[in-house]
Amino acid sequence: MIYPIVKYGQPVLEKVAEPVTVFDAELEKLVADMFDTMYAAHGVGLAAPQIGISKSLCVIDITSGEDPNARIVLANPVIVSTEGKQTDEEGCLSLPNFRAPTTRPMKATARAQDLHGKEIMLSGEALLARAFCHEIDHLNGILFIRHLSMLKRDSIRRKVRKMVKAGEW
Ligand SMILES: [Zn+2]
Repeated sequence: MIYPIVKYGQPVLEKVAEPVTVFDAELEKLVADMFDTMYAAHGVGLAAPQIGISKSLCVIDITSGEDPNARIVLANPVIVSTEGKQTDEEGCLSLPNFRAPTTRPMKATARAQDLHGKEIMLSGEALLARAFCHEIDHLNGILFIRHLSMLKRDSIRRKVRKMVKAGEW
């Protein structure tokens, strides 16, 4: 099932997600749906709050479905260490058509649980580190525009407000 993606402005995107406590077939189905939704939207990551579900769960695939082994599922993830810095264009499925250079760590290590509740540690560099940080931010109610200058963030907010008024958001 492909879910509609919740856009910036919806409160679910700006609150801390609830921990995942039950690792069952229902969670597996939700994760499969999240991958389908992410691929349909041409994203490389999707967090559960982006489909309106306040659960600490995200999926990532920086190959956009080309490599089945690149699929990553993180339940209850936290960033445990970072190294270096990178600045590159970043976007978000919840803020369609807005992209901006965003600074992130070059390397990030996350501790999480997998689909079966087993504890895992994953490290990523470059785009994967960016994806870890972006998606885990979502689970803490933080959107990437929080990392931009106030000027840039306000300009995006104003544009979104105009689009909301025009019924285009
Ligand atoms: Zn996002």
